[in-house]
Order: sequence, then C-alpha cells, then structure tokens
Amino acid sequence: MQQDEQTADIVVVGGGMVGLASAIALRERGLDVVLCDPGEARARTSFGNAGVVSRASIFPMASPGLWRRLPAYLRNADPGLRLRRRHLLRVLPWTAHFLASARGSAWRRAAGALAPLTAAAYPEHRRLADRAGVPHLLRETGWIKLYRTEAAFAGALLEREILAEHGIPAEILDGAALRDLEPALVRPFARAMLLPETASVGDPGGLVEACERLFAGLGGRSLRATVTGLRPEAGGWSVRHDRGGVRARLVVLATGAAAGELARPLGYRFAFAAERGYHRHYALHPDSPPLTRPVYDTGAGSILSPMGEGRVRVLSGVEVDDRLAPPDYAQIEAAARAAAGTVRLGQPLDNRPWLGARPSTPDGLPVIGPAPRHAGLIFAFGHGHIGLSTGPITGRLVADLATGRAPAVPVAPFAPERLLRWPRP
Ligand SMILES: Cc1cc2nc3c(=O)[nH]c(=O)nc-3n(C[C@H](O)[C@H](O)[C@H](O)COP(=O)(O)OP(=O)(O)OC[C@H]3O[C@@H](n4cnc5c(N)ncnc54)[C@H](O)[C@@H]3O)c2cc1C
Repeated sequence: MQQDEQTADIVVVGGGMVGLASAIALRERGLDVVLCDPGEARARTSFGNAGVVSRASIFPMASPGLWRRLPAYLRNADPGLRLRRRHLLRVLPWTAHFLASARGSAWRRAAGALAPLTAAAYPEHRRLADRAGVPHLLRETGWIKLYRTEAAFAGALLEREILAEHGIPAEILDGAALRDLEPALVRPFARAMLLPETASVGDPGGLVEACERLFAGLGGRSLRATVTGLRPEAGGWSVRHDRGGVRARLVVLATGAAAGELARPLGYRFAFAAERGYHRHYALHPDSPPLTRPVYDTGAGSILSPMGEGRVRVLSGVEVDDRLAPPDYAQIEAAARAAAGTVRLGQPLDNRPWLGARPSTPDGLPVIGPAPRHAGLIFAFGHGHIGLSTGPITGRLVADLATGRAPAVPVAPFAPERLLRWPRP
C-alpha cells in the first residue's frame, strides 16, 4: 500500500455536501486545504436525497405528536418511521434524548434555532451552484406538503403557527387548487401547503460532483482515502488514512452518519444515530403531465421529487437502524405503492433502490462548532433531514470558525456539548 505524507493548513474529513462546502469556503479564504473522502459517489447521503432546499425545513423529527404515534412506530405500522427495537437500545443516549425532545416547547425552540440557518440555505446554494457552473441544477420550484384528510391538515396547525411566527410564507390549497397547480397528482388530497420559499436540486449527485470540480479548480487537494484516525500533536493534528497521513493545524470532521466513529477514540461519545432512507427512480406514465416540484405525501410519509427528463425519485421515510445493516426494502416498496396512487408512475428505472443514512441528532439540530476538549478540531455533522440544503451555509460557518470571524448565523444552539452525555475524560 502506497504511503504518502502531506502537510496542509486544514484537513476536511468527508466529502459530502457539508465537507465539500466547508473545503470550498476554506479554500476561498486562502487556506491550504486537503479533503479526504473515499470518493464513492453513492456512499454519500448527499447523493441520494430529495433535493429540497427550503426555508421552511425547521422542524425536527421528534415532534410533539411522537408520543401518540409511538405504539404504531414500535409496531412498524407507520410508513413514515420504522424502528429496529434492538437498535434503539444500542443507541440509547440518542433514543432517550429523542423521546425527551418530542415536546411542543423543545420543537418550537429547535425551529427558532434552525430558522436563521434555513433562511441562509438558499442564498448560499445559489452562490455555490453558480460558482460551480451548474446554476440550472437549483430550480426555484417551491414544494408541497399534501394532506389526505382534513384531520391530518388540522394536526399540522402548530407547524403552520410556527412558520408564521418566523415569517415563512405558506399557502394553503384545497383539492381543486392543488390539481390546478400540480396536475400530475391523481390522488385526491383534502388540503395542501405550498411552501414557496423553496428551491429543489434536480440532480443532487451532479451538484456534489460540480462542487468537487470547483474545489479542484480553486487549488484544493482531494485525497481518495478513508481516514482511520485523528491524533492531536504539537501545533496541530496528524490525520491517518489508508494511504498514509496528513499533518495540519486544523481538522474538520464532516463524515455525516459515520462521524461518531472518528470522534469516539478522542473521547467524544455523542447521542447520535443513523436515520436511514431509500430512493428509487421511476418514469412517469407517458400520458402524465410532468411533476414540477417535490411533494411530500404526509399520509404515506414519503416524498416524490422530479429529477429531470421525466424521472421521479420516490423517497422513503425514516428507518432507525445501524447505518451498515443490510437493506430492508419494505419501506421503499410501500412508498412506491403509495406513489403509484399519487401520480401515474411508469416503470422503475433502477435495478434496486438506493440506501443512505441521514446523520441524526436527537434534537434535530446539527453539530457545528469547535470540539470542546481539543484545539483545532471543528465538528460539522448531524444535519439529519436538511444536510443538502444547509450544507453550503454550514461550510461558510466552518470557515468563519476556522478563521476567527463572527459566524454568519448564530451557532450556539449547534454546540457539540449538548449531545455529549457521557464524555470520557
Ligand atoms: C431519503 C433521504 C432524503 C433526504 N432529503 C433531503 C432533502 O430534500 N433536503 C436536504 O437538505 N437533505 C435531505 N436529506 C438529508 C441529506 O441528504 C443529509 O443530511 C446530507 O447529505 C448529509 O451530508 P453530509 O455531508 O453530512 O454527509 P454525506 O453526504 O453522507 O457525506 C459524508 C462523507 O464522509 C465520507 N466518510 C465517512 N467516513 C469517512 C472516513 N473515515 N474518512 C473519509 N471520509 C469518510 C463518506 O464516504 C461520505 O462521502 C435526505 C436524506 C435521505 C436519506
């Protein structure tokens, strides 16, 4: 195996949306940056998501209705959230904190912390997509939440109230107005909520690749490597990877759902888990009007997102399990069955579904901040359901932290300390 020793100002570990955006922002500030990532496009959760970039994405999974729905979740009777009961015990700190976060007051507080982050998501994405030479991938489409019944719509009242408190526009549509707006929908829905301050990415994997090219064009160095350990040493860090090592003053840990694995040997035991999710592409029936924006069928717990050229990406809800456990396609199959009643779906376009893991914190807020007990280590992970959208603004915040500037968005709510329940000395 080739041994290779390099030096840099800063090493970014992980080349998903968060790591790449960080590497680009740091390079733009003039730092000498090495980005380490194994380079497997489909291994990034940033590859396979729904592509929604919405100012309205301010609500954690642990919602006030969770306790009422818990029995159904535990029986895996709800298509939106499947729980592997044995795994919940393995990630007990996450489970306990997740359940404790399912209160109206915590939900409202988390939404308040996320609102400035999601407000900055679109402008930062626009800048990045333009600089990366792919402005067309970011489409100003809005997105729609669909409610099958009036009762389901009524159940989302608190969400509408909190959106209004933050000045986030939401237009309520009845079934007829929805059909006029999005004629591809064939299922009757009682109500819908259009969130206009939303863009969507027509090819998230393509955006990630364009960011890799932008980073290289800025003079950033990419290493196709898996980092095996982070070791503090005089004046900085020794980053060990499967082809050698890099010495640097600073390190950014942006390894998504794998973040705990490199943090643990340093003594950081986070309340952290993987919220797995699946997608599969389908053609729309040739006679169907196009689907023009992502839609979230709240009754099915799944999203349909147009990915260009008549392709629709059907995405499952959440499966809480080990990120590396074998796939269980039951949830995406249920999502596809529901999707077939919502639009006129044609043939599947992929041989098998894609599986990825959302890096999940129990309170629904990312971890963005300096490591509490090590100088020169910045954590940037745990973006859960909004890491594609908030990746670019996170990159800017990481660059602010690394260069001693005041963060563009308040980062105190994202401090790592809140999730370190049992740190080792
Ligand atoms: C079904 C689904 C739908 C979603 N929809 C949306 C959406 O519409 N909008 C939105 O904003 N978000 C969405 N998300 C969430 C979003 O995709 C994630 O939050 C985001 O991709 C996380 O980005 P990341 O850079 O932290 O992680 P990743 O994209 O997973 O990147 C982490 C990288 O780190 C690398 N890595 C891991 N370990 C090491 C190591 N030891 N050494 C070097 N590299 C390593 C990995 O190989 C990977 O390339 C969705 C997620 C899913 C699963």
